[in-house]
Amino acid sequence: MPVCEAHPIVMWELTRPCDAHCRNCTAGAPARQDSKEMLQEAYRTVDQIASLTPREFIIAGAGALDPEEVVRIIQYARHHDLDPALAVSPSSKLTAEDIGRLVRHGLTRIVFSIEGSTPRTHYRVHGVAGTFESTLRSLRRAREAGLAVEVSTTITRGNVHDLAGIADLIRPVGISRWNLRFLIPMTASARSEMLVAGEAEDLFPTIDEIRQRESFAVRVIGAPHYRRYRLQRALEAGIDHATVRQWPRVSDTQREVMDSAVDDARGFLFITHAGDVRAGEFLLFSAGNLRYRPLDAIYCSSDLFVALRDPDNLKGRCGRCEFRHICGGSRARALAIKDNIFADDPLCAYQPGNLLPIPTALRQTEVSS
Ligand code: SF4
Repeated sequence: MPVCEAHPIVMWELTRPCDAHCRNCTAGAPARQDSKEMLQEAYRTVDQIASLTPREFIIAGAGALDPEEVVRIIQYARHHDLDPALAVSPSSKLTAEDIGRLVRHGLTRIVFSIEGSTPRTHYRVHGVAGTFESTLRSLRRAREAGLAVEVSTTITRGNVHDLAGIADLIRPVGISRWNLRFLIPMTASARSEMLVAGEAEDLFPTIDEIRQRESFAVRVIGAPHYRRYRLQRALEAGIDHATVRQWPRVSDTQREVMDSAVDDARGFLFITHAGDVRAGEFLLFSAGNLRYRPLDAIYCSSDLFVALRDPDNLKGRCGRCEFRHICGGSRARALAIKDNIFADDPLCAYQPGNLLPIPTALRQTEVSS
């Protein structure tokens, strides 16, 4: 078996139908599959996901299903020792009663999207009217029902100055993690909402402050160069290069830095409602379909995943970068903006060659087990 990161994060888009029409979302028009057939296919998908023993398993798109179907899938996953988190869309049909029932059948975690501290800011990013209050209501009910709650926020020009306000809003609810997602622009109009590289760089110290101040965890998605930023700060603080060479096995602190950001392909995979396996949610190439090839084979040895894991395939600044083994830039953003999956990430401001030599074997890849 080829070398690949063990225990990946798996995100599964259970259904694609959604009538919310959120900005920058690729979900499509409603379609309906026979319930029995859908459940059988869902169970087969869960079997394959369980074989990877993921460290995180997130189910999206469940809100379009009958709540009874969602209960069955959660139950099935729990019987396979999986602990799925449910990512809830604004158009979800799940009521407070449904959430209570899911908790009784094994759901322990749920994820909501909050894009601003006010209805106006939330709407500017989300693009769906009336969801701010309903999301907050659901979030509080989920906490009351005993669920661990995560919040996801997509950082754009519309809310970048509102992060402190959002933190104030979600702190009292007692969330367990805040996922800060840097926008991957999937449409031409969304590009104008993306931060420029300097703005992203300026935001990293603010994210560090939030991490230090808040009791909930903070994770960056869509900007793996946050790891580069954190390693630069660690080096400035006195971590020597001999220690860095053994990254990330040396200490929990360094492991924690690696885990502070999520990147495409390396330790992450996305499964579409049709069974296509992608290296990222917004990386629209399919590496294979689990109806025809086992998921572990696609993840570990498909051409796409293997190519994306190899930092020597990177081009431009990312290809010359001392940090490419721990970062590599967002492949989804490179594809969306430069139409080249291996191009450098336009959201990163770093110019390679500005640091002391960093060992090339910076990241020891874990062997799938
Ligand atoms: S240049 Fe590329 S690999 Fe280097 S830190 Fe920036 S995004 Fe990461």
